[in-house]
Amino acid sequence: MELALFCTKVNILILVLALCSPCKFFQSPVDFGSSDFLRTRDTAASLDFGRLVFNSPSAVLRPRSPMGISLLLTFLSASSFSQVTVAARGAGHSIHGQAQALDGIVIEMDSIPSDIYIHKRGDDEVGFSHADISGGALWIELLEESLKLGLAPRSWTDYLYLSIGGTLSNGGVSGQTFKYGPQISNVLQLDVVTGKGELMTCSPTKNSELFYAVLGGLGQFGIITRARILLQDAPQKVRWVRAFYDDFDTFTGDQELLLSMPDLVDYLEGFIVPNQPSLLGTSIAFPAHLGFMPEFHKVYYCIEFAVHDFQTGGANAEQVVEKITKQMSHMPSLVHSVEVSYFDFLNRVRIEEMSLRSRGLWEVPHPWLNMFVPKSGIKHFKDLLLDNIPPEEFEGPILVYPLLRDKWDANTSAVLPDAPVEQVVYIVGVLRSATPASCSARCLGDILRRNRRIAEAASAPRIGGKQYLPRHPSPLHWRDHFGLRWNRFAARKSLFDPLGLLAPGQGIFAGTHDSTV
Ligand code: FAD
Repeated sequence: MELALFCTKVNILILVLALCSPCKFFQSPVDFGSSDFLRTRDTAASLDFGRLVFNSPSAVLRPRSPMGISLLLTFLSASSFSQVTVAARGAGHSIHGQAQALDGIVIEMDSIPSDIYIHKRGDDEVGFSHADISGGALWIELLEESLKLGLAPRSWTDYLYLSIGGTLSNGGVSGQTFKYGPQISNVLQLDVVTGKGELMTCSPTKNSELFYAVLGGLGQFGIITRARILLQDAPQKVRWVRAFYDDFDTFTGDQELLLSMPDLVDYLEGFIVPNQPSLLGTSIAFPAHLGFMPEFHKVYYCIEFAVHDFQTGGANAEQVVEKITKQMSHMPSLVHSVEVSYFDFLNRVRIEEMSLRSRGLWEVPHPWLNMFVPKSGIKHFKDLLLDNIPPEEFEGPILVYPLLRDKWDANTSAVLPDAPVEQVVYIVGVLRSATPASCSARCLGDILRRNRRIAEAASAPRIGGKQYLPRHPSPLHWRDHFGLRWNRFAARKSLFDPLGLLAPGQGIFAGTHDSTV
């Protein structure tokens, strides 16, 4: 009966056919409003960067406008198909199937044209330079377009082939975060299709509950179809510096020194060097060796910072770097610096990607673990990591760098460690690759179990960490993850996606699919 009602619209009938599993005859792309609907069991929609989870959807929607998304969610909300889940897929660079929807519908956001509009301060009433850009567009597209007018976003991720909606659903963290906050602190306005199918514009002053819910909201409340991103004047060149340490306290001490110099430092990261080969692949702009004979089994540390070429007070970037490094306590003579274009600096991981791709080392499983750790727990966390992962086993970098809590808006859905008195919070990214040559399926399972043990131990009060890009085995673990913020998160879910249609791959709510390997 209900089906008959909806069948008055051809495109809806097609959707119904796509969702009925017995209708196996339905194979080819068809029109759904202004969208393509593909019935599929075996596409890119069941694959992500992690290559750990492979959940096939029943159908893939390739909308040509936000209206296609709104039609779909409105229909599902009002029909007996409300148990069918829907995942937006940006660039599919999740690790654990977060953008997948087992037997549900995946919306491929890249089918909506990127449409990027750059506004220089003074062009309109907004008062800041900003960009309006589609949710499925990539950050690299925004960089290319904004640089044409000498502008660029203030806050980045290390890798730019990620979608606007994908990183805003998490946080978006990189070496600029200590200074400008994560990407979610640099958004002025969003267009969102809620789980109920409503198309809404939201900002800190308009529909603000939706605005803050969606930022860092893990795709749970709505699908970002457009974002207004704050821009600033872009430098032409960047001086990029690396300094090495053989002592963790000195390394973090210097990182916190640089953290206190936002007027001089434009980018601040750092990483653990557990073995000499791990330097390979951190950047081809620098030597892939330490520059001295490392002690056997000794772990080293590297601070990476950058200074933009325009500086107030007439000093050039090289002079600023000299002034900064004089105050640092790195190993004698172990500081290197290079000058690169701003574009190449921001796009640095692409070069590593190309190199890894050419060696068949990009499309491999990535059992990554990312955590926020309060300053008081960072040394324990480093020890925990190195106790659990033998240094010689490491392939890929272990990023460690500090951020400032007050650059994060507590109204957003993003979760930082609970200790609110601690201003300094470290982000740690254990970015391992499991190449088939070095890691069998059993070894991959071991790494994932070890990651889980590390994440659990790090969440205990002694360290007080929280996962970034989180993955938890059950809704109960998710409650722990959100802690005091759980009630607000759940209330927002009831408000904007009451039927629990969106982003099932996160596995946050009971009944959504847990796809942990
Ligand atoms: P997807 O994997 O497509 O989706 C991620 C989640 O967001 C899913 O739940 C999905 O349903 C949801 N989603 C996607 N699009 C939308 C939308 N338009 N509206 C609402 N929800 C949506 N992160 C950092 O913070 N800093 C880094 O430096 C960084 N570097 C990375 C480097 C690499 C090589 C990789 C693979 C990842 C990196 N990440 C980094 C992690 C990355 O930010 C997240 O994985 C992000 O989700 C990827 O964006 P995506 O477009 O691929 O998202």
